[in-house]
Amino acid sequence: MIMSEKSKQHVDSCRFCWMCHHICPIGNATGQERNTARARALGISLVNREAIDLSEIMDNIYECCTCGACVHDCVTGWDPVMFTKETRLKAALEDKTPDYIKPLIANCLATGNAYGKTEICDRLAQSVKAHADKKDILLFLGADARFMACEQALKAIKVLEKAGVEFTVLEKEPASGVQLDFLIGAANETKAQMEECAEVLNKYKTVVLYDPNDAKAVKQLYKEYGVEVAANAVTYTSFLADLIKEGKLETKQSGRTVVFQDPYQLSRDLEETEEAREIVKAYAKLDEMLLNRAETVWAGNILMAQYMPEVIKLVAKRRIFNAKSVGANTIVTASVAEYVSLKAVAEEENSEIISIEDLILG
Ligand code: SF4
Ligand code: SF4
Repeated sequence: MIMSEKSKQHVDSCRFCWMCHHICPIGNATGQERNTARARALGISLVNREAIDLSEIMDNIYECCTCGACVHDCVTGWDPVMFTKETRLKAALEDKTPDYIKPLIANCLATGNAYGKTEICDRLAQSVKAHADKKDILLFLGADARFMACEQALKAIKVLEKAGVEFTVLEKEPASGVQLDFLIGAANETKAQMEECAEVLNKYKTVVLYDPNDAKAVKQLYKEYGVEVAANAVTYTSFLADLIKEGKLETKQSGRTVVFQDPYQLSRDLEETEEAREIVKAYAKLDEMLLNRAETVWAGNILMAQYMPEVIKLVAKRRIFNAKSVGANTIVTASVAEYVSLKAVAEEENSEIISIEDLILG
């Protein structure tokens, strides 16, 4: 395997370091040292020194959710996400991607989403149809909401309708490229999806990105890939916070006390932490979660649940445990992936999971 000198330097800096092992959501869920940034670096360094074959570490490479908690925690500035994604790309180029990942990649290339879905649910299709006309504002729902969490997509649309916003929702939405970026890193195919998506987004003045993962892609990753977005791309949460400020979205206290689950894409990558809090505070009493804002702990997603469902359940359960340890029973999410992940274990954990849209719609 030929790895960039930059990545090699990061790998060799991490491989004997223990400093961030305590903050890895996967490592904490499994209790296994192999899931930490340092263990992943050690494995890659052995491949770089030709002591083992790349295929021997690939399961481990796909056990990282690329949440960047380690990167954020690292006082010396090393970046395990960078070398993990580069290793995924190398494996794809050398045909050493694990067999259970290959169909997800093939689906992304064939259908634009890792789940291989081509149809959205009937109710969402009707709702999308009602917003088919071209307006200045595009609501970009993303693959998770459209294909795996239809109810959440419907709620996202209803909130904007409630505020009287005129907007378009696309019948066929292009892939943002963020799933391919996760699965194979900076491949030509990933960039091609991003370019195709940017071309569509650039037909609108404002693009409201419902999924924080797409928001991270369009507002941050596209720049790294050299893909230009001329449209004003905003997160769904910042758009809603503005609607509340402008008095367009009616607010009403629900009497609930809640904590907010910061999606790392918003809080760490885009440094957006207060907008969602402004929304939550307009409808409920907000307490703070254990480890919040940039220190947030990832609560799982839909994509990784396709190939390691039991670990993702443990990740979600641990995050609910974090909430309970500060006396909170209701968690408000702003990420459809975390909503689905937390909701899947909420009943057995005797916990309530609601989305920001649930709070607004009452
Ligand atoms: S990211 Fe920083 S703290 Fe974590 S293992 Fe690497 S060098 Fe250590
Ligand atoms: S990016 Fe997240 S999951 Fe991956 S090693 Fe770092 S803390 Fe763990």
